[in-house]
Amino acid sequence: MMQVFNNMSILLKDEYFDFINLLSYPVLIIDSNYVPQLANKKFLSLHEISTKSISKLKDIVVNDKIIKELEYILERKDKKIIFKVISSEIVFKGEKFYIISLFDFSRKNKAYDELFFIKKMFENVSENLPEGILLYEDYITYSNPTFEKLSGYSGKELLLKKFVDLLEEFDKESFYINIEKLLLHRKSYIEQELQLVSKQEKNIWIRIKTSLIIDMDKTFFLNVITDISKKKLEYEKLSKIAYFDALTGIYNRRKFNELFLIEYKRAKRYKRDLCGLFFDIDHFKKINDMYGHDVGDIVLQELSNLVQKHVRETDFFARWGGEEFIVLLPETNAENALRLGEYIRTNIVQYKFTKVGNVTVSFGVTQLKGQEQQKSFLKRLDNALYKAKQEGRNCSVSL
Ligand code: GH3
Ligand code: MG
Ligand code: MG
Repeated sequence: MMQVFNNMSILLKDEYFDFINLLSYPVLIIDSNYVPQLANKKFLSLHEISTKSISKLKDIVVNDKIIKELEYILERKDKKIIFKVISSEIVFKGEKFYIISLFDFSRKNKAYDELFFIKKMFENVSENLPEGILLYEDYITYSNPTFEKLSGYSGKELLLKKFVDLLEEFDKESFYINIEKLLLHRKSYIEQELQLVSKQEKNIWIRIKTSLIIDMDKTFFLNVITDISKKKLEYEKLSKIAYFDALTGIYNRRKFNELFLIEYKRAKRYKRDLCGLFFDIDHFKKINDMYGHDVGDIVLQELSNLVQKHVRETDFFARWGGEEFIVLLPETNAENALRLGEYIRTNIVQYKFTKVGNVTVSFGVTQLKGQEQQKSFLKRLDNALYKAKQEGRNCSVSL
């Protein structure tokens, strides 16, 4: 009964051998006593048995584990391969047999283990980074705790969003343009500075480094995000120091020169009107002498506030130095500039300055001429002021 390769197995072979050889995985047929009766080429080569010496199949030991636990263990000198089994029962010529199909998961498992390891490693690194990490395809697919904290949204809430939804309205277009560059020019990454709107509707300056991960037909965007709001604030403070006068808060001479160059070029190129007002406090030395330097400072501050209120939004008002101020008036002719100068001057005359009371100023007014240089314009402005001083102060002179 337990004899291997009895007549029955020869019959089995005739019936099944061609069929099981078509299969890409090892197949073994055993009888109800777990005795191997037939195997396909894949199974034979796995056991280093040639199809000619198929009788060696009888040396293979199969136990009931194969049916009960659906596991087939192949032990070699140095390794052990565990196959998953799919078995199906057949009745052939009144006798019961099992067709055992073997699947090797070890190779697949190895790749899976590697992926799992890489994923774990990425998560571990990512969850401990001070930078925000964000992965999205169309919608966000992954965020780390740093980004969740920064944005105010939970990981789950982020999964329902597109990254662009989190951006300040005016940054959205430039964001798309840059992403397009990344895709079109196949750059390794792009960096942008954008404003994020948090769940609490707070604007946060971020630097975002985006790289592509292309996986078959999918394109993912991997983003490393740094909170740069502190840096931006410092930069703002620095540019304030660089461009604004510390005492009065209005533009300083440096900023004026920058703005003047722009307006000068524009006026020359498009033949537009451009005027300047240059004014200086009358007898300011006396004010300092009588009330002290601190009171003099207050006069400078109050005067700046007052003048700032009376210039138009398109005009540029700056402290030239000491108690000298300058106003640049784009799109204004000499007549209107003189009128504005007089208007400001009368407002100053009428103002009651802290402790000092009345203060007067003298105005020089001029208009940019044809192809003249910046220098000659400024010189004429200075001359006009000088003339106003000579004419008795508290007046405006247009040259
Ligand atoms: P004038 O009518 O001819 O302009 O007479 P003035 O006294 O104003 O003469 P001048 O322009 O020569 O004097 C300017 C004075 O302004 C001298 C300087 O001590 C003072 N001053 C310059 N900068 C400041 C400042 O930041 N604060 C104070 N309190 N005084 C300043
Ligand atoms: Mg002066
Ligand atoms: Mg003066």
